[in-house]
Amino acid sequence: MNLSNRVAIVTGGGRGIGRTIALKLAEVGATVVVNDIGEASPVGSVAEEIKAMGGQSLAVLADVSSSSDVARLVEETIAAYGKVDILVNNAGIARDQLIIRMSDEDWDRVLSVNLKGAFLCARAVLRHMIKQRWGRIISIASIVGLVGNPGQANYASAKAGIIGFTRTVAKEVAARGITANAIAPGFIDTEMTQRLEEDWKQQLKKQIPLGYFGSPCDVAEAVAFLASEEARYITGQVLSVDGGMAGAWL
Ligand code: NAP
Repeated sequence: MNLSNRVAIVTGGGRGIGRTIALKLAEVGATVVVNDIGEASPVGSVAEEIKAMGGQSLAVLADVSSSSDVARLVEETIAAYGKVDILVNNAGIARDQLIIRMSDEDWDRVLSVNLKGAFLCARAVLRHMIKQRWGRIISIASIVGLVGNPGQANYASAKAGIIGFTRTVAKEVAARGITANAIAPGFIDTEMTQRLEEDWKQQLKKQIPLGYFGSPCDVAEAVAFLASEEARYITGQVLSVDGGMAGAWL
């Protein structure tokens, strides 16, 4: 895989899976615009790490659920590098609660960041990708969007929405040389899953055919492949990176 001369935007790239995706794309040659939200975000250090590897990178703070922030994110990318080839919709949040106790605010915020954010970012980059007749849109969904999960109605709905959105983007822009795919990770070893109780983790592992949580690198490798020229004939797909877990449910 070689992404030299490609410019990528990775949303939510300050930590966790997004950070690993940003570093992986840079490792295979891409220029990476790393986005995250909030002044306290470590996103600047990710860009510095890429530059220390000899790559090109820019950190842009922006809230993906804000249309004006997303417009600025893409404008800054174009101003710095002249184009955008790859979008990785990775920014995501969870606000878990059983449906009967879930607030309107927790429903709206999770849908806004996880689903509307992906729409706003895709819309903003597609204008550029259509002109250049090449593009890759890769969105991070979740196993939960495929099989559901108690306490995550908002998150599961947003992630299922990502899948329908991805399939629609794929059909709308296929003729322009642009592919759109989703990745559905299972349980990945990040801060989010490190917070789970040990007993619960052991129970979950029993439901994973491979028997262990994935690493952010497992997701990043799949992203790099889908972003590459080698994946040109793959579009509208959902790639599960879950140790076989969804297969055990579906
Ligand atoms: P994470 O560690 O919580 O990282 C998410 C990143 O997104 C953070 O850097 C966060 O910034 C950023 N972010 C949050 N809201 C944002 C916004 N409005 N605009 C821009 N950036 C924003 O999560 P993760 O575990 O790496 O997950 C990454 C993606 O994979 C998410 O879409 C998640 O739903 C999905 N996923 C994760 C797992 C898993 O097991 N970890 C499984 C399936 C799917 P702050 O640090 O400032 O909040």
